[in-house]
Amino acid sequence: MINIQNYIDGQLYDPIDQRYLDVWNPSNGKIYAKCPNSNNQDLKFAISSAKNAFNDWSNLNQNDRSDFLISIAKQIQIEHKKFAKAESIDNGKPYSLSEKLDIPRSIKNLEFFSKIANEAKNDIYHQKDIISHIIKQPLGIVGTISPWNLPLYLFTWKIAPALVTGNCVIAKPSEITPYTAYLFAKACIKAKLPKGVLNILHGKGTEIGEHIVKNNEIKAISFTGGTTTGKEIAIKASQSLKKISLEMGGKNPVLIFNDCNYEKMINSLIKSSFLNQGQICLAGSRIYVQNKIYSQFKKDFVEKVNKLITGDPFDSKTDQGAIVSIEHLNKIDAYVKHAKKNGGKILTGGEIKNIDGKCSSGWYYKPTVIEGLSQTSKVNQEEIFGPVVTLNRFDNDNDAIEMANNTSYGLASIIWTEDINKAHKLAELVESGLVWVNCWLERDLRTPFGGIKNSGFGKEGGKYAIDFFTQDKNICTKYYD
Ligand code: NAD
Repeated sequence: MINIQNYIDGQLYDPIDQRYLDVWNPSNGKIYAKCPNSNNQDLKFAISSAKNAFNDWSNLNQNDRSDFLISIAKQIQIEHKKFAKAESIDNGKPYSLSEKLDIPRSIKNLEFFSKIANEAKNDIYHQKDIISHIIKQPLGIVGTISPWNLPLYLFTWKIAPALVTGNCVIAKPSEITPYTAYLFAKACIKAKLPKGVLNILHGKGTEIGEHIVKNNEIKAISFTGGTTTGKEIAIKASQSLKKISLEMGGKNPVLIFNDCNYEKMINSLIKSSFLNQGQICLAGSRIYVQNKIYSQFKKDFVEKVNKLITGDPFDSKTDQGAIVSIEHLNKIDAYVKHAKKNGGKILTGGEIKNIDGKCSSGWYYKPTVIEGLSQTSKVNQEEIFGPVVTLNRFDNDNDAIEMANNTSYGLASIIWTEDINKAHKLAELVESGLVWVNCWLERDLRTPFGGIKNSGFGKEGGKYAIDFFTQDKNICTKYYD
């Protein structure tokens, strides 16, 4: 049994009142660790440590702060297999995915922000005899709250820009997947990150998460998670006028036109539908196909989905690992049952998958394709966040846009067409913060990342994250003869 600890004041600590949560291994449905269920006393300790650290940390040269991030990245690189293994045990995702995506990207987040912060430019405005120069100052102590689907990837995506700009951070990883954040704390100790600069508190969102959101000493909250949680955080954080950035759910449309590059589209679509068991906020879960190619597409897509191997995350042949929790598995299944009852035709999948051997008590779901649902069906409207996609057909550009925009979400959209004029026109009309044309999950980390409508409030990435974690000060100087 692994005993996960908080990281406060540069050291690992058990929670003050010794309350713990069970942590499950989704691949076999067994408890493998316990993690702190931290309370307000733990937070107070972390805040006092962060306060003590802030002056020295914020006054360090930018380069020196960057060097610490690079040292932590190196520690992760040295132990990347251990990190990848931990991520898969904790989340249920295939080890090959943790190793190729989650851990390398976590390292890249640290490296990227250590560089971009150095490149950030300050504005200067000049009038006769007056010069105004704008400096960016850290906010002070900031909070980050991250989800379970890409645990270390999204944890580092937030803390890296926060730290490099001179803030001290109270970070709360998901209580469902706390393991790599714990290993990260150990990497910080090895990298000799000054004490108090980063504090990692584990525990329930509704307990320690809420304490962080309400705390008056914390000047900003960067949150990624579900839309309902994001809205609650917005209400609670407004009491202390905190800055907030909310990255929330998605119900992303994929628009596939007759003239698309079929081969490229269908190979990419398998990933945009089912990578990480469909538990990616950017997954394309509503697939819209133009009439002429619909039947052929349906046949080819289902054939490909049937070839996906669902099973032990540590088997190198596995494409689909386990679903993160029994509650989430049941939620996915409930949506599929609802689809079945309401006229949905299951083209493949549609049920919990039982696996033999050491994974027989694990939580697996068959990759599922459903057609024939109305656009207002909750399966087409609500985020399922699992390996379930719907097929829908459209006639022309107007239909496609109308259906794509018929949701309260607006995170990402994917358009497949070889007609570049159409692609540009539709990309402007589709309501989402990010549009991929003829690709999916391509990311230039300098670009703004975030949804619109119920998917997001504020942007992350590049200078947008630097802006979020800093406040501008205008220093206006007049000069005389
Ligand atoms: P969640 O909202 O349940 O939890 C996210 C985090 O918030 C966790 O750390 C949780 O403990 C904490 N939390 C929960 N209630 C809280 C509260 N009242 N106050 C403060 N903190 C609280 O989400 P989840 O189930 O962990 O993650 C899945 C969701 O995340 C999906 O909706 C997915 O789309 C979304 N997501 C969005 C993005 C994006 O960039 N837009 C990326 C990944 C995941």
